[in-house]
Amino acid sequence: MNDRTEASSAAAPEAASGNASGAATRVLVLNSGSSSVKYQLLDMAGGAGTVTGGRGALLASGLVERIGEGPVADHAAALRQAAGELADRGLGLDSPRLAAVGHRVVHGGTRFTEPTLVTDEVLAEIEKLVPLAPLHNPANITGIRVARELRPDLPQVAVFDTAFHATIPEHAARYAIDTATADAYGIRRYGFHGTSHSYVSRATAALLGRDPDQVNTIVLHLGNGASASAVRGGVCVETSMGLTPLEGLVMGTRSGDLDPAVIFHLVREAGMPAEEVDTLLNKRSGLLGLCGDNDMREIGRRMAEGDDAARLAFEVYVHRLRKYVGAYTAVLGRVDAVAFTAGVGENSVAVRQAALSGLTALGIEIDPVRNALRGGGARLVSADSSRVAVAVVPTDEELEIAAQAYELVGAVPG
Ligand code: ADP
Repeated sequence: MNDRTEASSAAAPEAASGNASGAATRVLVLNSGSSSVKYQLLDMAGGAGTVTGGRGALLASGLVERIGEGPVADHAAALRQAAGELADRGLGLDSPRLAAVGHRVVHGGTRFTEPTLVTDEVLAEIEKLVPLAPLHNPANITGIRVARELRPDLPQVAVFDTAFHATIPEHAARYAIDTATADAYGIRRYGFHGTSHSYVSRATAALLGRDPDQVNTIVLHLGNGASASAVRGGVCVETSMGLTPLEGLVMGTRSGDLDPAVIFHLVREAGMPAEEVDTLLNKRSGLLGLCGDNDMREIGRRMAEGDDAARLAFEVYVHRLRKYVGAYTAVLGRVDAVAFTAGVGENSVAVRQAALSGLTALGIEIDPVRNALRGGGARLVSADSSRVAVAVVPTDEELEIAAQAYELVGAVPG
């Protein structure tokens, strides 16, 4: 999913950065999950406008897993290990070349709609959002805290998964429930994967050779988690995830849309505690729940062997996608492009083909030969006769976070 070349590890990192001036142009991107920390060190010497030009140079990347099990006791230990790995490559956190640390933060609520320089007050506000994202925000917060301890002088920038969706109009963000209750508990559509939707919608416009403000795009981010968004002229107007990342498309282990009464039914009839229903819908549903596998590659293999459960899981997944493409076509009125991204979107020929076949009435015609070609970068897979461009656009959330963080610290005096 990453078509930038990784500069070889220890060799000559300063030279590899393409920046000999010694200026602070590097950004460390941290994605602290519940049990892992992913990191990337990027050099943004080409400027923050690198997002669609793909110029951010990747200097190093890594993953520290199984936090809490064995040697990596907690997030602090994980971050120290990451810092040690970077130091071993001559890219230690003490480098004056580091301009900022960019943190992925899952939930920004209605408070954070832009990349934000972390202060004590900001950290306290992110803390207040924990009830909205109990599985994600605590780990993000720990990541910020530890990074601040390691380099107290360095700007820490929080980049929120929800931010790109802050422009969704009120009629799309509101659930049709009692307003006072909704407001008291912050219940509304926030949307997630915003960094990816933002990046991919702009990269799609670039692929079409047009300005983002001229292009209407349906972005289908299909990874383990999956979400769709409708982007009008670069501005997000609708997205499929809601209060939490559970709503919308069928995902690896999450159900996506269902009748909320299913929950009451399980509580009353099956005697399941709320926590167990939560786990069922988030961890044991989706493709996994339907057929026992959550990896689309495995599902493809099983389908080829005539496995009915795998076939049904695939069909449920694809049917949901088609519904969203149709719905978002209606929302946008004019669609210029449908863009597929993330693990499934970038790699599954079968999902793209099945999701968009038979949509000629909507002006969408996928070209089976182009669709089947394997290629690294952003590419068109629509037929020449298609009114709507169909694109495969590799996402790069880390580059987008780095670009946003770099742009923000560049704008901060001193
Ligand atoms: P995450 O949401 O964890 O970032 P990714 O975007 O990396 O996930 O997507 C992971 C998923 O992508 C895998 O679970 C798998 O289903 C799917 N995937 C990866 N490679 C392929 C492939 N070649 N064909 C079909 N599906 C793939």
